This record gives sequence, structure tokens and C-alpha cells, in this order.
Amino acid sequence: MFVDRAIIRVKSGKGGDGHISFRRAKYEPKGGPNGGDGGDGGSVVFVGDHNVNTLYTFRGQYHWEAEEGESGRYKQQHGANGQDCVIRVPPGTLVYDESTGELVSDLKPGERVIVAQGGRGGFGNEHFKTSTYQTPMHAKPGEPAVERTLRMELKLIADVGLVGMPNAGKSTLLAALTRATPKIANYPFTTLSPQLGIAELDPERRVVVADIPGLIEGAASGAGLGHDFLRHIERTRVLVHLLDVMPDNGKSPAENYKAIRAELAEYSTALAEKPEIIALNKLDLLPDESERTAKVKELRLKLKLGRDTEVVPLSGAAKLGTRDLLQKLWDMLHPKGLERPEHWAPAADESHA
Ligand code: GDP
Ligand code: MG
Repeated sequence: MFVDRAIIRVKSGKGGDGHISFRRAKYEPKGGPNGGDGGDGGSVVFVGDHNVNTLYTFRGQYHWEAEEGESGRYKQQHGANGQDCVIRVPPGTLVYDESTGELVSDLKPGERVIVAQGGRGGFGNEHFKTSTYQTPMHAKPGEPAVERTLRMELKLIADVGLVGMPNAGKSTLLAALTRATPKIANYPFTTLSPQLGIAELDPERRVVVADIPGLIEGAASGAGLGHDFLRHIERTRVLVHLLDVMPDNGKSPAENYKAIRAELAEYSTALAEKPEIIALNKLDLLPDESERTAKVKELRLKLKLGRDTEVVPLSGAAKLGTRDLLQKLWDMLHPKGLERPEHWAPAADESHA
């Protein structure tokens, strides 16, 4: 339902040309052919990378090119091979050839797919020597580059779901998280689907956040959220439970927490079982640091939270604690040691390297 799209042009490297040359030594004025082979051109390779979760990068770059192979040289010297151009995309990205409509790949985590093969280097004239033909005057040119226009599609899956009472500040927080960098504000989703936003710690580390509105307002009885949306948010990996420090329904933050947890359990066990960060929101309403600390402490006591459950102090409106929250979410989504997809899903051509 939330589909991210991008179109790019890829070009592999052409193969290096074979070289034409002959040995020229002092006592060997008519030496044999010694032109080296051209190097292979680099390929354009797609890699399904678990750490990439949107196609946002492709909005800034249309052309993706691998390196050409170097030409061969005299004295049988091989030209260097060109470097591959490696393009990291989220697993689940569908890659189509734009001109034929053919599905090129449906990338799995850690999978590598060559979408434009590099040209092979051409043979130097040394290769064409035979017993009867001692002075070949020709070599082979490198194979040409391959160019393609590719269309990518990705169903965006939210990593993080925001839950909380109406007016807890979910929409405000989503806006605060996703407008941290101005270019995110232009991202089409923020206008197409206001419940979904892309938060960015830096360009390499993005988190897709979904506002899960109206959970209380009749969702459990079937009204409100559609089935598609429910399926979508059930695939989030972490929940942020937002609590208004001064709830407008006359209840305490702890009471509201319990009410939402009960709703969650009734609504979807899959959602209720997600790991959760509790965020005590609207702390800008309390000017005193000691008051804010006391509120966090009180909540911890009332909910009997253990040491391993964190309560993040927050003000979505004043953007206080938002980056800290984002960092914690990132850390939960990307446990240490799993940064590189190769660690848990070695690509076939790397496992025996
Ligand atoms: P939602 O129903 O959970 O999406 O809540 P909203 O984001 O719409 O916010 C509800 C109300 O709380 C609005 O009037 C917001 O201006 C206000 N609000 C949201 N976040 C904060 C905050 O961090 N501090 C304060 N003081 N008010 C906030
Ligand atoms: Mg809202």
C-alpha cells in the first residue's frame, strides 16, 4: 500500500581492448607478438541490504556506472579489471527492466544480483600466434558495456509503530522526527500517507515510522483502521508507546498505559508482543528538571518497570529527546554485530572467499 519507487540508469564497464605489440630485444629484432589482454569491465551489482529500508538514495542519483576494464599493454601485461558498481537496496525491492517490463530480481537479504554484466577484456595479439602465423597484427577489442534503465519498487514496511491515547502527541512526534532534515519533508509519503514518515539519523540510517492512530477509537470493534493498514503495522518491529505526562482525559499516564496495553492485546496479539519503548511525552510542560525526573520515576514505580525497560523523556513539540529516541530505536532495530548483511546471510560468491 505504501509503495516507494525509483528509476535509475545503470551501465557496466566495457572490457579493455587487447593490445598489439611485438618483442623488441637487442638480438631479437623481429620478436614475437606480446600484446596483453584487456581487463574485464566492472558489473553493476544489486545487493539486498537489511540496513537500507527505503529507495530514498535514488532520488539524488540517476546514473550508476561500473568502471571500464583497462586496455592490455606490451610485454603481455594484462589491463586491470574495472571495479563493480555495488548498489545496496532494501530486501524485497522488485527490480524491473523499464523497457521490457521484465522482472529482473526480487532481492532477498544478502543476495547479490548482476543487473549489467561487465564486458570481457579482449585478447592481445599474443593470443593469435600460431605456428604458421608468427606476426598477428590484430587483437580483440573489449566487449561493450551494457546499459539498462531499471525501475525499482518497494513496499515500504514501517520499522516502528507509534501507539498511545488520542492526543498523546503521536502526529506531532511523527512530524518532529521526520522533519528533522528538510529533504525528508519533500518525500512523497509525507503527503500521500501522513501516517508514515521516514526519520533519519543520518543518510545511512533511516527508520520508517508509522503513526497508528485511533487504536482506542473503535479500532477493536472493527471501525477505523483498514485490514491493509493492520497487516502493515503488524510487520513493525518495535513500538513506541507515547504517554502524555498530563493526560487530558483525567487519568494518570500509568492508567493510560494500561488501557492502551489492554486495547493492543485485544486488537492484535502480534502487535502486543512487539518490543516496546515507553516515552513520557510533553515534558516541556514541566519547566523544572526535578519535576520531570520525578514524573519519570513515578511512572516507573506505578508500572513496576524493571531496570531493562527504559522510559525516554520526550517533548515532540519542543523536539527534546527526539534524537535520543531515534538512536534507541535504531539500536533496537540493528543489534550490534548484525550491521553487515553478509554476517547473517553470506552471498554465494563471498562465503568461500
Ligand atoms: P495524537 O492524537 O496522538 O496524534 O496527538 P497530536 O500530535 O495531534 O497532539 C495532540 C495535542 O497535543 C495537540 O494540541 C498538540 O499540539 C499537543 N502536543 C503534542 N505534542 C506535544 C508536546 O510535546 N508538548 C506539548 N506541550 N503539547 C504537545
Ligand atoms: Mg494524530
